[in-house]
Amino acid sequence: MTNTIVSYGQEPEVKIRQSASTAITVAYGDGIGPEIMKATLKVLEAAGARLDIEEISIGESVYLSGNTSGIGQEAWDSLRRTRVFLKAPITTPQGGGYKSLNVTTRKVLGLFANVRPCVSYYPYVSTKHPVMDVVIVRENEEDLYAGIEHQQTDEVIQCLKLISRPGTERIIRYAFEYAKVYGRKKVTCFTKDNIMKMTDGLFHKVFDEVGTEYPEIEKEHCIVDIGAARLAETPEAFDVIVMPNLYGDILSDVAAQITGSVGLGGSANIGDGFAMFEAIHGSAPDLAGKGKANPSGLLLAAVQMLVHIKQADIAEKIHNAWLRTMEDGIHTADIYDAGVSKARVGTQEFADSVIDRLGLKPENLPAVDYSKGNKSINVTITPTKQAVKELVGVDVFLHFSERDPEQLAAKLAGIESAGMRLKMITNRGTKVWPNGFPETFCTDHWRCRFTNDPQQGVSYQAVVDLLQRIHNRSLEVIKTENLYLMDGKQTFSAGQGQ
Ligand code: NAD
Repeated sequence: MTNTIVSYGQEPEVKIRQSASTAITVAYGDGIGPEIMKATLKVLEAAGARLDIEEISIGESVYLSGNTSGIGQEAWDSLRRTRVFLKAPITTPQGGGYKSLNVTTRKVLGLFANVRPCVSYYPYVSTKHPVMDVVIVRENEEDLYAGIEHQQTDEVIQCLKLISRPGTERIIRYAFEYAKVYGRKKVTCFTKDNIMKMTDGLFHKVFDEVGTEYPEIEKEHCIVDIGAARLAETPEAFDVIVMPNLYGDILSDVAAQITGSVGLGGSANIGDGFAMFEAIHGSAPDLAGKGKANPSGLLLAAVQMLVHIKQADIAEKIHNAWLRTMEDGIHTADIYDAGVSKARVGTQEFADSVIDRLGLKPENLPAVDYSKGNKSINVTITPTKQAVKELVGVDVFLHFSERDPEQLAAKLAGIESAGMRLKMITNRGTKVWPNGFPETFCTDHWRCRFTNDPQQGVSYQAVVDLLQRIHNRSLEVIKTENLYLMDGKQTFSAGQGQ
């Protein structure tokens, strides 16, 4: 038996040491975090999990000590050593420029896939959706979560939505491989590519391309709004759903909630050589310290972790004991229903009830079988093909406080560089010049498109000269976007109404 434990900050409450154990990093988190982590580790220990735990302090206390990332160097060092992270939810203090620790951890460690199984346990847990077994595979690093935001004018703030081909291919392949490995029948993709034709359009296109390699799996694409409505109404129609980051974040909470409680959902964040396991829910400050929180989300995340570190036997034992506890009606307050529940228990009592059932299987709910051990999912991405890129113009964004596009066009009249002339002005994406509608509301944030006619290549120096001329007319350039043809194809969107 080894007894090494590395502790940063808090004293460990539960110590699990066995021979041939796997080192993992554990954070107790904030709010209900310490209560549900203690309960989870107690079950893991009783089940014989072979773990060497390194504890780290992250979250609120670290933020409030002046570290705006909420995580210190020692914690990163531990994560680099163990490469497996069991994390309780944390509280991000409001305001003050604090960056989300969850987003940072996922991105810094390259945890590209967020896997969130959402299952109904009817009739033992009350739900409007008795038949539901959906796995949401959420892209975890890109989209609006790049966190690149700028206030550009008095009136307008921008958040960049970044979707990359390799990032998309990786998550789509992961979703199909997950479906294949776990015997799932269908993969659905949600996007909003009727509006975001280039970013979400790429996600949809890669889904169609990669999908052809999986003829045995049914494929489906839904626009996210109607897809979300269908998910909330008829979740039984879905199997695996793959989504860009923001839609996946929102809809996995919806999916977990409609199984009976957000407190039931666990999630795995998977990357190349790193993995983080956590509950779907947050730190629930309203329940903190009351001993009432449901530890199931974190416990089921720990089950995912045990499968990942090849302790599938222990994972199976815990998961089946947990299912039996559900079946026996031993429920925390969030899922307690006098009609079906037998006992309303607190967090630690719930953990003890699971421990009492270790070795038992559910009698009616389907038992889990992890006997095939860790079903590894490896994805490789296609090398990027470099296109022939030709600069053909520039979108110049200006801060101009008069709300009149004609006045702005007059100020830009006659400005020309290498044949590039003002072709269009948009405001919040809608064309307002030439021939705009007087009804269109305009802010102080304008996009002025300069190209030559017909489109032909220009040098970057010509763009710089153009900007100098605009600057000389006392107009404030807030940013530019180059306009390219790539392999001869236009790679920028038209103005709304153009
Ligand atoms: P939340 O998920 O903490 O709580 C939402 C609701 O669900 C509350 O009514 C809460 O009581 C209930 N709930 C959540 N977990 C439960 C459980 N295990 N058992 C019973 N009921 C449970 O969401 P929130 O209130 O929006 O956020 C609170 C804090 O958590 C915020 O600071 C937020 O930034 C943070 N947060 C952290 C994570 C994370 O660390 N992964 C995720 C989401 C939110």
